[in-house]
Amino acid sequence: MSDLALPLDHAPEDLDAAVCARLGIGADALERVIVVRRGNDARRKNAIKLVYTLDLVLKDEAQVLAAHHGDQHVRPTPDTSYKFVTHAPADYAGPRPVVIGAGPCGLLAALVLAQMGFRPIIVERGKAVRERTKDTWGLWRRSVLDSESNVQFGEGGAGTFSDGKLYSRIKDSRHLGRKVLTEFVKAGAPDDILTEAHPHIGTFRLVTMVMSMRETIEQLGGEYRFGTRVDDFEIAQSEDGERRITGLHLSNGEFLPASHVIMAVGHSARDTFEVLHDRGVHIEAKPFAIGVRIEHPQSWIDTARYGDNAGNKILGAAAYSIAHKASNGRTVYSFCMCPGGRVVAAASEPGRVVTNGMSQYSRAEFNANSGLVVDIDPEKDYPGDPLAGVAFQRKFEELAFKAGGENYKAPGQKLGDFLADRPSTDFGEVMPSYQPGVHLTELKQCLPDFVVDAIREALPVFGRQVPGYDHPDVVMTGVETRTSSPVRITRGRDLQSLNTRGLYPAGEGAGYAGGILSAAVDGIRVAEALALELVPAGSES
Ligand code: FAD
Repeated sequence: MSDLALPLDHAPEDLDAAVCARLGIGADALERVIVVRRGNDARRKNAIKLVYTLDLVLKDEAQVLAAHHGDQHVRPTPDTSYKFVTHAPADYAGPRPVVIGAGPCGLLAALVLAQMGFRPIIVERGKAVRERTKDTWGLWRRSVLDSESNVQFGEGGAGTFSDGKLYSRIKDSRHLGRKVLTEFVKAGAPDDILTEAHPHIGTFRLVTMVMSMRETIEQLGGEYRFGTRVDDFEIAQSEDGERRITGLHLSNGEFLPASHVIMAVGHSARDTFEVLHDRGVHIEAKPFAIGVRIEHPQSWIDTARYGDNAGNKILGAAAYSIAHKASNGRTVYSFCMCPGGRVVAAASEPGRVVTNGMSQYSRAEFNANSGLVVDIDPEKDYPGDPLAGVAFQRKFEELAFKAGGENYKAPGQKLGDFLADRPSTDFGEVMPSYQPGVHLTELKQCLPDFVVDAIREALPVFGRQVPGYDHPDVVMTGVETRTSSPVRITRGRDLQSLNTRGLYPAGEGAGYAGGILSAAVDGIRVAEALALELVPAGSES
């Protein structure tokens, strides 16, 4: 049963009663109610409703379904269990798949391959997550950037130090997202991610979860190589012109023979994109977005969204999602909103500043933050070669480094000053959370003019939708450039590179995902395609 709405403060027993009333059955006809999903409808701030999707166990299901025939909210429960597409036979002696990158895409790809018996090798340029955490804090606390171990690179991938939001708008008819969430729960994520409409895990739990998944993969015969970057790709060409991957050159000097490679390198592997391009692997420029991070006290957002219900534990810290089409044709929108969190330094290259956001499971920190970004387009904004988007990102990240004082502080400005086109000199009611610090200045120094114009137009509009959003003391920091990959490493229907067989571009870096859940789902899809290439269905034994 879907779309069953109850008042925010309803008693637990009210749920069964509401189900019976909705179905027109007596209490004795209902055996069990399992909450599959719970969201909220806060369109009317002072009459907020909880909205349920439920799995019902009934005495006579056939009779209830017949009575509600044609009712789109009362239907047989779909089978969301995961079914492996193939298995390696017990005596499998074929090639071991190699997974490059241990972010959500590589992690789920490796896990599913291991569960199917293929003993994958995972090559990750960054460190194991515990050591990586220390390096990441090094930038935040001491302004020391390790270009191989940071917010972008290392076990767990880019989303490890994040809000851990786990929802996505991808089409998922096979319920692969459910498989991902189920594996996360097995690895220590809170159970409620299986039922919340907008689940999130937070940084602390992500770290332990990633370690637990590594243990499972190793127990199943998988093998990790940390601190090992793939520096080059060996590609052979047959007489009839077919290109096929044959191996990988690693940063430790080793050559790793490999005929089936999942490339899940994320959106910040700029050096890897360059090598792939040099080796003739098909790459295209792809649109992404650029802008700033904006911070408000969380209490302002809670009040704007929930009115008198602000602070209610069931609702938690409020989020928002807003968009505006500006008169210069650009869309300005909120991106990766982190309630009760902090803005983080997310650079992976020296001499560049990048912002992003994270939070803990409790979402209890003082400020809400989100990206405030403007869409950009290769044809208009960075025409030319497929890697022109990378050059575009680097240019504005360097300008941000300069504007911040060349010490990894982020350039920042109060919203009122940004609108009035004057530099900020002091903070007001809102204090920024970015570490190692914020240098007050003018953000227009490190953003394209059309982005500045579009954001200036959007801020008062957003202020009407979320009261307090455009308060003059609100702080913005920059720049937000790693919104998604600037390239697409195009693949065909078989999920292999368009022109290089055996190479499976996957996840966010390849342009096939945008977020933890969609990257993980894509990892499963490519793992399945690769496994079927090694052991076609029906030939397992
Ligand atoms: P990545 O996670 O980027 O993983 C790629 C991995 O490949 C990295 O570990 C990298 O070290 C490795 N690698 C790269 N090149 C090589 C090479 N040559 N050799 C070997 N290894 C290599 N998304 C959400 O859905 N919810 C959120 O709340 C959220 N918050 C975020 C907060 C922050 C601070 C950041 C940075 C991102 C956030 N995201 C969030 C986005 C999310 O993290 C990404 O969409 C997701 O991690 C992409 O997964 P991926 O596996 O495709 O790539």
